[in-house]
Amino acid sequence: MALKVVILGAGESGTGAAVLATKLGYEVFVSDQGKIKDLYKSVLKERNIRFEEGSHDMLTILQADLVIKSPGISEKTPVMQQIRSHKIEVVSEIEFGFRHTYSKVIAITGSNGKTTTTSLIHKILTDAGVSAGLGGNIGKSFAWLVAEQQFDYYVLEVSSFQLDDIRDFKPWIAVLMNITPDHLDRYHYEVSEYTASKMNITKHQGPEDHLIYCQEDPISQQAISNSTLQAKTWGFAIDRLSNSAAWFDQGIIHIPFYPHDFTMFYNEMKLTGRHNLYNTMAAAIVGKVMDIRNESIRESLADFVNIEHRMERISAVGGIDFINDSKATNVNSAWYALESIHQPIVWIVGGVDKGNDYSMLVPLVEKKVKSIIALGQDVKKIHESFSKKVNVIVNAMSMPEAVKLAYHMADKGDCVLLSPACASFDLFENYEDRGRQFKHSVRNL
Ligand code: ADP
Repeated sequence: MALKVVILGAGESGTGAAVLATKLGYEVFVSDQGKIKDLYKSVLKERNIRFEEGSHDMLTILQADLVIKSPGISEKTPVMQQIRSHKIEVVSEIEFGFRHTYSKVIAITGSNGKTTTTSLIHKILTDAGVSAGLGGNIGKSFAWLVAEQQFDYYVLEVSSFQLDDIRDFKPWIAVLMNITPDHLDRYHYEVSEYTASKMNITKHQGPEDHLIYCQEDPISQQAISNSTLQAKTWGFAIDRLSNSAAWFDQGIIHIPFYPHDFTMFYNEMKLTGRHNLYNTMAAAIVGKVMDIRNESIRESLADFVNIEHRMERISAVGGIDFINDSKATNVNSAWYALESIHQPIVWIVGGVDKGNDYSMLVPLVEKKVKSIIALGQDVKKIHESFSKKVNVIVNAMSMPEAVKLAYHMADKGDCVLLSPACASFDLFENYEDRGRQFKHSVRNL
C-alpha cells in the first residue's frame, strides 16, 4: 500500500512537496487552513492531487504515515498539537527533498544576508559552468526542484523554520551568515531556541562537509565554540583573527588557499557596505572550496547586480536620494543599512514589530538620522526609542503619505531610506509590495 503523506500548507513549500510526493507514487493529501493561491491550486488540480482549503480534516490527517509541514505553520496550532500527540512523523519540506536526491546541497542560513549570499554563490557556480539549481526559501522550493529538475548541486536558502523539522538534512557546504534576534515569537522569545534551530544546519554534517561562518557575529561564534562540530570550518571576519579563512585589509579581500590565494579589490565589487563584504567573503569561500578559478569568482562578484528591495537605489528626486531596503525586516538589517549610508538620512521605519529592541540603533540614529517617519499601526516603540534622538518623528499610515512627508523633510544631498526593521503585514501584502509601493510613490513625486 502506498505511503500516506499529508502536507500541511499549500504555498511554495507544500505544493513542491506535493509534486514530489505524487511523483514518488505516494498517496497525497494537502490541507491548508487558509485560502490557497490560484497558482498553487491549479498545480494541485492538474496533477489530481487531493486537497482542502479553509479547514483541516483531522480524520484524514491523523491517518498519515508522514506529515510534511510548511515552514509557516507553528507548533502551537491545534492541528500540529494533535499530530504530535498521535506521534506521527513530521518533517519539513527541505528534509523531504533531501531524502530524494543524491546531488550535493549547499545551504545558506542566517538572520540576514541569506538571499544575497545564496544568489552570489549560485552565480559563481553557474558562471563557472557548474550545474546548480537555486531555490529553497527563494524561488522554487527544494522538493519542487528535486521533482522536476536534476542538477549536480542545489544552492538553497534555508530559514530557521525550515531547519526546525529536519532529521538527516546535511548540506555538503553550510553557510551560517549570522544569528540576530528575529522571529522570536515562534521560539518562545528565547534566542537560544532560535540559535539551536539555525545550528541545525550543521548538526548532521560529517568531516567531509564544510561550515562557513562569520567570526564577528557574537551569537553564531559562541554557538559554534560551544558545539562539537564534525565539519571543516571556515571563518570569515572583516578584521582578521588568527584563524580567519577570509578577511578584509586595506580595501582588499584575502582568502589564502592552496595553491592559489584569492584576493579581490573592494572597489571591483558591485555590492557595497559592510554587510555585503560578509556576503561576498562567504560566497568566495564556497567558490574556493569548489575549486573554481579565482578569475571566474572575481568576474562573477564584479558583475552581480543587487537584488530588488535590498539597498536598492532609486533615482534621485530634487537632489534627494531614495533607497528601497524594504527587505530589512529586522533591527539588525536596518543597522547595516544605516551604517552603509554616508549622507543625512530621513528614515522610514515601522510595521509589524516582532519583539524589536531598537537600542542597538541609537548611536547610528543619533549620528546620521535627521528625522523619522514612523509607518504603520504600531509606532509606540519607535517614538519611545528615538523621540529624544532626532529632531522630528511623524507618523504615516500609507506609503504615499510616508514618501511625501519624507520628501518635504529632506534637503538636497540627503537620503530617504526605507528600511523598516519590521514585517510588513499591517499595511502591505508582503515586503515586495511595500518596496514596490515605495518606488511607485517616489516616481509620483
Ligand atoms: P535575508 O534573505 O536573510 O532576509 P537579504 O540578502 O535579502 O537577507 O538582505 C536583507 C537585508 O538585510 C538587506 O536589505 C540588508 O539591509 C541586510 N543585510 C544583507 N546582508 C546582511 C548581512 N550579512 N548582515 C546583516 N544585514 C545584512
